[in-house]
Amino acid sequence: MSFELIKKHGDHEEVLFVNNKKTGLKAIIAIHNTALGPALGGLRMVDYKTEEEALIDVLRLSKGMTYKAAASGLNLGGGKAVIIGDPKKHKTEALFRSLGAFINSLQGRYITAEDVGTTVQDMEHIFMETPYVTGISRALGGSGNPSPHTAQGVFMGIKAAIEMQLQEDSVKDMRIAVQGAGSVGGHLLEILYKEGAKVFISDIDTEKLKTLKEKYPNITIVDPKEILKTPCEVLAPCALGAVINDETLPYLQCKVVAGAANNQLESFKHGVQLHDRGILYAPDYVINSGGLINVFVELEGYSYERASEKTAQVYDNTKAIFSLAKEKSIPSHQAALDFAENRIKSISAIRETYHGRLLRPFSHLIGMKNRQK
Ligand code: NAD
Repeated sequence: MSFELIKKHGDHEEVLFVNNKKTGLKAIIAIHNTALGPALGGLRMVDYKTEEEALIDVLRLSKGMTYKAAASGLNLGGGKAVIIGDPKKHKTEALFRSLGAFINSLQGRYITAEDVGTTVQDMEHIFMETPYVTGISRALGGSGNPSPHTAQGVFMGIKAAIEMQLQEDSVKDMRIAVQGAGSVGGHLLEILYKEGAKVFISDIDTEKLKTLKEKYPNITIVDPKEILKTPCEVLAPCALGAVINDETLPYLQCKVVAGAANNQLESFKHGVQLHDRGILYAPDYVINSGGLINVFVELEGYSYERASEKTAQVYDNTKAIFSLAKEKSIPSHQAALDFAENRIKSISAIRETYHGRLLRPFSHLIGMKNRQK
């Protein structure tokens, strides 16, 4: 059953089921592809209803990480981990440390980070058992909160998109509708506001919007049901996945879709439909890669300046995808996929699998032989 699921969801290199009865740990680590480097991807803690649901989630998410890293030009592979459990009830230091010990046994083939249901503190518990973790606090040499970098990357993606679609090099006076004023949406709003854009924003959290309106009086608050219908140059989904679907597509009134939310297209065909309607889509995993870039810099020895510099490259990455799409007359989501797959394929010719930090081969056997002499 599991091998069938693996084949169906991406033909992963390795899937590790982790079980520690004493700490209550039940986790799955999925390594999708390591042709470009170690598999990096966050750790989710979710009270999955079934083990199959957890397995499908980790397989799907780890494959997504392969494409995100490849399209962003990073030397990273795709991986992800899930803990089956309620993050509000089942978290303990021992639980995360026991997972950390298993991650350590992979010798760097998989590197973890924060995701839904996990925090900096959880990463720091993992860090007690393994160096193969990112997203730890600045005090411990980590990169801290990735959201400002994700927002900066999304802004770079918006700039590339308006240049391509509208031949504009500035968002000044441009109408930009942001769905979701959370960690990324809030930071994006700040950047857009400073750049002089006319920002329309919605969130289901009215308190959050009240605070933002006090801070940025010129923004326009929009009802969450209306935000996708707002006439604008750029629609920036920064809340939920699958917002571009059969129901929403007919009433979009934007020229560009460029936001942070993961998996904005409900399915591949919705990308084709956006293209047919003349709306330029900045592929989500290309422009929301600032957070991944930030943790990648952590592996090199963290510097905020270096992370910002590298995140600015999202502009060039996005432009390269748009150019490829134009050259081949294909939708941009197809171009991003082709770009990522070609990069993986070409590097696979050099090395197909990253095997982690190799120990001296058979050193224990050599030791035995010496003793026998
Ligand atoms: P968040 O939880 O901080 O913010 C999401 C916001 O969306 C919340 O304020 C929530 O109230 C609001 N929201 C929920 N439903 C809504 C609706 N129907 N209409 C309007 N607003 C709604 O999350 P985040 O970290 O800002 O991430 C936003 C999106 O970007 C997610 O899809 C996430 O997966 C993706 N993303 C985030 C990062 C990162 O660095 N945080 C990196 C890559 C991708």
